[in-house]
Amino acid sequence: MRVYNTLSKRKEEFVPLEPGKVKMYVCGPTVYNLIHIGNARPMIVFDTVRRYLEHKGYEVNYVSNFTDVDDKIIAKANEEGVSSKEISERYIAECKKDMEAMNVRPATTHPLATQEIDGMVEMIQTLMDKGYAYNVDGTVYFRTRKFQEYGKLSHKNLDDLRSGNRSLLVTGEDQKEDPLDFVLWKPKKEGEPFWPSPWSDGRPGWHIECSVMSKKYLGEEIDIHAGGEDLIFPHHENEIAQSECCNGKPFARYWLHNAFLNIDNRKMSKSLGNFFTVREISEKYDLQVLRFFMLSAHYRSPLNFSADLMEAAASGLERIRNAVSNLAYIKENSRADSGKDPEAEQEILAGAKAFVSKFDEAMDDDFNTADAIAAIFELVKYANSNLTSENSPELIGAVRDEIVGLSDILGLIVEEKEELLDADIEALIAERQAARKAKDFARADEIRSQLAAQGITLLDTREGVKWKRA
Ligand code: AMP
Ligand code: ZN
Repeated sequence: MRVYNTLSKRKEEFVPLEPGKVKMYVCGPTVYNLIHIGNARPMIVFDTVRRYLEHKGYEVNYVSNFTDVDDKIIAKANEEGVSSKEISERYIAECKKDMEAMNVRPATTHPLATQEIDGMVEMIQTLMDKGYAYNVDGTVYFRTRKFQEYGKLSHKNLDDLRSGNRSLLVTGEDQKEDPLDFVLWKPKKEGEPFWPSPWSDGRPGWHIECSVMSKKYLGEEIDIHAGGEDLIFPHHENEIAQSECCNGKPFARYWLHNAFLNIDNRKMSKSLGNFFTVREISEKYDLQVLRFFMLSAHYRSPLNFSADLMEAAASGLERIRNAVSNLAYIKENSRADSGKDPEAEQEILAGAKAFVSKFDEAMDDDFNTADAIAAIFELVKYANSNLTSENSPELIGAVRDEIVGLSDILGLIVEEKEELLDADIEALIAERQAARKAKDFARADEIRSQLAAQGITLLDTREGVKWKRA
């Protein structure tokens, strides 16, 4: 399997640190709003990478953080007159609902920056002790010049960057030794959340959060670090500097970055205001369509969002679903004397397997989901033209399972959902009531969204919980 590594700018053979295991960290969102479909791109893409690695037999430890302390969160909290905690908790819960609806599996661990402050203070202290950091009036900076390899990920010309940023120093706005030095710790301002530290009451810089959470949950050296391409510089470059100077070893072996989701060929972003939230899209489409749309392009190619492409994704997904239900139908109705030519049946199965190999080859080539979907389409076409009720139910079932299985590796659900029975719904409601009683509101919410995903709405009434199907 070959993966494109931003560090070397080449496709490299994937060799994990430990055979059979993959340690993977994906930078997660800053939680101050509903996520937009640009934020959804790395979620879907790297969830698919994880699924494929698991399909290949790797045990994947997948860590993805929520940045829950940030200027934008504080601003939103002040706007609403509530605490930052309330804002971040609200949008983490909303983000998890969107992830579930996009069939993005929860990470092995979703650390929160605010729960890891001790580790951050400790790492900053180590950097101070080693001479890689300095304190000016309670603000701690990283001394980039001391790290010889600074710039190795972004392949930028650092002298140009330095001269571009020099004005900051000249105007005395900044107390940094070098324009490329960045903040590790900053003192609190009025009304901001803060934690004690040896340098000031304050909060960590954004970059140190990921270095610390990655180290705590995955170790000093990891296999894959990933995120959107806007994170290459400065975020990931700074993470490398912090982690490698603190730990004295290489940080991540493979750096994977997705290209942007654009709209009218401009990056979709909150600041430009040109975004659609995942929630808005879910009002118009099954979010499986959004997932299909995202995977119909290679993750390193820019992808332009348009209604036409979403319609194409909807009909592509429908084509696969139709084939799957048609195969289920002909399997049920397969004739008693079906499959009387075992040799011919073997041949059809071998023909189908060729498309499975094609799928694997595409995914082995830097997770080329566009070609992998093309292989599923070819398999669908092949099944439509080669299988009838005259084939054995075993053969029809095997080909159907291949289509479902390949789609599942991409996180695409192509089987009709089995309706929840009334008794199952009642049991889940009882479990939710018990969870609420035990003040396990997270579990209670989880059950509510699980039911909502199946079109079941709950009404809390005075006579107890009532439910209805959509
Ligand atoms: P943020 O909340 O802005 O820190 O972004 C969370 C993740 O979404 C990061 O990995 C970003 O690189 C990624 N991201 C943000 N906007 C886009 C976009 N338009 N296309 C692709 N990825 C994006
Ligand atoms: Zn990060």
